[in-house]
Amino acid sequence: MIKINLNEEAIKNITEFLEKDLRSARTKGLMCRLKDEKNYTYLQTLYPYLYKKLYDDKSGKPDEQKIVQYLMLSRKELMDVIQILGPVTNNDCSQRLREIFDYEGFSNRQGLRNILRELGVRICPYCNRISVYTEKYSHGIKSNVDHYYPRAIYPYLSLSVFNLVPCCSYCNSHKNDLDCYKEPIIYPYEEEFGTDTFFYIRLKDCGSLFGVLEDKTKDIKVAIKCLNDEKRQKVMQQDSRLRLCAVLNDDDSDGYKESSYRGDIQKFIKNQSFLYAGRLKLTMATADSENDVFKTFIGECIERFEQNYEQSEWGNRELAKLYHDIAKQIKEEYNED
Ligand SMILES: [Zn+2]
Repeated sequence: MIKINLNEEAIKNITEFLEKDLRSARTKGLMCRLKDEKNYTYLQTLYPYLYKKLYDDKSGKPDEQKIVQYLMLSRKELMDVIQILGPVTNNDCSQRLREIFDYEGFSNRQGLRNILRELGVRICPYCNRISVYTEKYSHGIKSNVDHYYPRAIYPYLSLSVFNLVPCCSYCNSHKNDLDCYKEPIIYPYEEEFGTDTFFYIRLKDCGSLFGVLEDKTKDIKVAIKCLNDEKRQKVMQQDSRLRLCAVLNDDDSDGYKESSYRGDIQKFIKNQSFLYAGRLKLTMATADSENDVFKTFIGECIERFEQNYEQSEWGNRELAKLYHDIAKQIKEEYNED
């Protein structure tokens, strides 16, 4: 939903962490495992494509530069590899590849923590609902990491950085082994909901959002609209799989959040509507000093809101995208009146 923005400096740092982790003899990094005779023979015989991607042609030794390149494959390149190697359905092969591309070991090392820090993801890019740092470990709090292309199906991509998406525990468990090669959702390193895909509030009994101000019984429902034909399928897949709207509408009953999302959203609509209704009242009233003060207050609130929820802030605040979209809907309603 929200794009992960990476600059060149971060990519350079990530590459350095990978190189260091790769060579680490103490933690038996990938290099050590590739040097192992049995893994070498295994890849050469059964996965010549991978062998070529990881070893020096002439010497037959693991090639550090090639390996780093392999671990930094872009989405297009990850898809190319999948196209060639396909899903790994044989249990023994899967087991062996998972041992070679050992994610469990990697995830417990400093390298992954450094990479996560460089990625700088604070709020789950899949749902924008909650912080990604939800798991407590002995070395502090650690993020959940999803494999966009699941390692249960594509174990040879277990360590590829751009297959690793820091996310919340809810999304991680609900996405589970969804095969994003066949049924993609929005890929956060390159794609986002942006402005052509947005949340909106459906009032069951029609009427305007301003009506929520006067009528407490009005029932609201959050829905998603996507105006982009190429993205629509992915967006719908993401909504249903990660239960984006269902959770916001409190239709999900697995106790993900203690208070009600719907209650928060209702409160937000009321606050926003209040600001606009107040402004409407002001434009009709004659200006006296008291009104001027009130006017300044409302103006400041709206301005602050617009700064808080502008697109560049979506990845920094929980539900920022949702609130941005609802506020826009209210503003549009206000302008129509
Ligand atoms: Zn999430």
